[in-house]
Amino acid sequence: IRTHDIVIIGGGAAGIGTASSLLKRNSELDIAIVEPNEDHYYQPGWTMVGGGVFKPEQTVRKMAGLMPKAATWIKAGCQSFQPEQNTITLSDGSQIGYKYLVAAPGLKLDWDGVEGLFETLGSNGVTSNYRFDLAPYTWKLVSELKSGRALFTQPPMPIKCAGAPQKAMYLACDAWRRRGVLKDIEVEFHNAGGVLFGVQEYVPALMSYVEKYGIDLCLSEKLVAVDGPAKRAVFEVTGKDGKVSRTERDFDMMHVTPPQTALNFVAASPLANDAGWIDIDPETLRHTRYENVFALGDAGSTPNAKTAAAVRKQAPIVAHNLLRVMQGLEPNAHYDGYGSCPLTVERGKIVLAEFGYGGKLQPTMPTWMLDGTKPTRLAWFLKERMLPGIYFEMMLSGNELFAKPDLNLDKAA
Ligand code: FAD
Repeated sequence: IRTHDIVIIGGGAAGIGTASSLLKRNSELDIAIVEPNEDHYYQPGWTMVGGGVFKPEQTVRKMAGLMPKAATWIKAGCQSFQPEQNTITLSDGSQIGYKYLVAAPGLKLDWDGVEGLFETLGSNGVTSNYRFDLAPYTWKLVSELKSGRALFTQPPMPIKCAGAPQKAMYLACDAWRRRGVLKDIEVEFHNAGGVLFGVQEYVPALMSYVEKYGIDLCLSEKLVAVDGPAKRAVFEVTGKDGKVSRTERDFDMMHVTPPQTALNFVAASPLANDAGWIDIDPETLRHTRYENVFALGDAGSTPNAKTAAAVRKQAPIVAHNLLRVMQGLEPNAHYDGYGSCPLTVERGKIVLAEFGYGGKLQPTMPTWMLDGTKPTRLAWFLKERMLPGIYFEMMLSGNELFAKPDLNLDKAA
């Protein structure tokens, strides 16, 4: 079987970011990237597509154009891992060998986790910014709705970009407010979790928008079934006493954030922890049992906010630590759990949540310049004008301007 020094699973934000980061450090490396898709998506842009700000084309590029030239692209899906043999099996049954493995295949959007959802997506007023082809439908529904009831849902954690369910809602409310129809639309946020946002410091700013838009906040309510033609949603409600009951809501439009889990082939592999995520050290991002395996991005077990912003910090850490291990040294770069979630509270303003492990605030800019706990125009400018470029031109090409301090090398290993 063909063997590469480094095999990377997934050509998403994490896979390409890590490959480029490795090659920036050593352009001679023999790296293969296993990725079945022709297209690469800038998923953070889908919120903006659903909000009528970006065109869908701004969020997709050809994979071929983003793959580092010095890497070998294996255009196939990985079907299983054999870490004892240092091999992976591809979807056609063939095997690839490696000396070092970086696993970054992302996570699974579990549309089937809600009864009746999959078949009605894209029709009957049911949409989701979590799919490239559906984000434009969100904006169509928002643009056309004049009165009635709009539901927005959030499943149990973990999900990628925990703020995205709310972002879709606030941008919709803002569009309705500007058109003068918000007063005729009942907006409900059904969140399986018990709080509006997991990091307390950002809640007051978000609550002020919940109140401004007159949103009915329904906490501990999990979407379990949808009847598209009847335009009816069923929620499982957990009461304060822990008792579970069901409630039904009719809707005119519904934005769904699907339940999210580890990919099946990952969860079934020896790399997974009990919850199905790839079991890595939260700081070095090295596998807890296989010393020549690293993982990052949405597939990893690290308890950070699953975001591209997190990947931007993780990729250089994996690159640095992997090269150390190749030299027979111990990993000495440490990820601090940074993740970021730009909450689009209205068109033109964002509450920029930036935090690490344990919900510790980690603002990139000094507070006098940008206070992330307040809605700011500067954060919107960053999201609309700067971040797509930073993603495509810097992160995916291994440009790590200012990345050095993020390696946290001084921390005692
Ligand atoms: P992905 O980018 O999803 O890439 C995974 C790759 O693996 C894909 O290319 C896929 O084709 C490939 N793959 C899958 N299965 C296999 C297989 N079997 N074999 C080989 N390859 C495989 N992040 C932010 O930082 N800010 C935001 O504002 C933000 N907003 C978001 C809004 C939405 C609606 C969504 C959906 C996401 C948002 N995110 C945001 C999250 C961000 O997009 C992800 O966290 C990020 O893309 C994770 O990178 P990844 O490489 O781990 O996964």
